[in-house]
Amino acid sequence: MSNRLQQKGTQTLVPGPSDLTSFNTLGLACQADQVVVLQAHEQLPELGRQLLQNTDFFILGAGSNVVLPSQLAPLVVRVALKGIDLIEEHSEHVLVAVAAGENWHDWVASATARGWFGLENLGLIPGTVGAAPVQNIGAYGVELCERLHSVRAWQVAEQKFVTLSREQCGFGYRDSVFKRAERGQWLIVSVQFALPKAWQPVLTYPELKKHAAFAKLAAHEVSAQIVLDAVCDIRRRKLPDPSVLGNAGSFFKNPLVSSAQYQALRARFAELVAYPQADGGVKLAAGWLIEHCGFKGYRAGAVGVHAQQALVLVNYGGAQATELLALAEKIAQTVEQTFGVRLEIEPVVVASG
Ligand SMILES: Cc1cc2nc3c(=O)[nH]c(=O)nc-3n(C[C@H](O)[C@H](O)[C@H](O)COP(=O)(O)OP(=O)(O)OC[C@H]3O[C@@H](n4cnc5c(N)ncnc54)[C@H](O)[C@@H]3O)c2cc1C
Repeated sequence: MSNRLQQKGTQTLVPGPSDLTSFNTLGLACQADQVVVLQAHEQLPELGRQLLQNTDFFILGAGSNVVLPSQLAPLVVRVALKGIDLIEEHSEHVLVAVAAGENWHDWVASATARGWFGLENLGLIPGTVGAAPVQNIGAYGVELCERLHSVRAWQVAEQKFVTLSREQCGFGYRDSVFKRAERGQWLIVSVQFALPKAWQPVLTYPELKKHAAFAKLAAHEVSAQIVLDAVCDIRRRKLPDPSVLGNAGSFFKNPLVSSAQYQALRARFAELVAYPQADGGVKLAAGWLIEHCGFKGYRAGAVGVHAQQALVLVNYGGAQATELLALAEKIAQTVEQTFGVRLEIEPVVVASG
């Protein structure tokens, strides 16, 4: 690796400059002035003091949901804490604590193999376990908050470890307190999962339900491993691999509109793709809105819209954040002019400092 991250023992507390271009899945060129790697809880009191002094610090997981600027002045903390611990085994569920630096998919795969079920629909989502609560990751009919018990975090202002219950995390659609008002307040060190012993497959998502793996199986023959394999198969066929083509998955959230707004749009656009919500609102498929505006496969210099997935913006190589954000703004403006709906960017856009 070309970066100069310092990864040995307590030396990690000495910030050093680093090239983060290969530490974000969009592959955006990024030079950081100061990076430290957090590998042990014991580093936290000292690192915590540094964070108090550097109030605009930035926490980096695997960089799969960030738009990094070409020059990053604030202190960057790369979270590399490891470990998976079975905390309790009840008749109804197992409680497992997983360190923030663990790879998300590896955790899902190992949990499924150990007979701890409930995360299989979330397989193959890139990133770390610690970042998963930040935007309440979700896929194929399941959101993280449905399986999460609590989050253990370092509270920067108070200089102490705190455990936040699921309710305290304020989860919403691709949202949590960690992404909103209290961003920068918390450094997540581990996530506790409550995984049900009475497992039922979640096959509500149409694309998953009709996967060939389930065609010849009776309901009782469907296992968590089969669901995980089917999810991975769909994702591999559908989404570009960031190691081949830089991307951050869905670049925009699916916008939520009122039922009345949906009906008005539907009268004008009969093909509109939308998902009714429990609260009476309607979630519009942002990919459909973008595709309808003619952007699928569109390219502007080093950046573009994926040819198969209109929701995925890509870096063909050598792009900087400014180019990508200019394209995102052009798409958002066109969608707003056409549908009267403003698209919101899903990844975290990081300021240069
Ligand atoms: C190909 C592809 C497919 C994707 N598919 C999905 C999907 O289906 N569903 C979905 O929800 N997301 C998806 N994503 C987005 C991404 O995988 C998730 O958001 C993931 O949780 C980000 O993890 P990360 O470690 O890369 O976080 P990063 O990108 O490094 O950081 C994301 C945010 O979390 C914060 N953060 C990271 N670690 C910590 C920590 N320990 N404590 C406090 N804050 C922290 C960062 O400061 C930043 O604000 C996809 C991305 C890609 C590239």
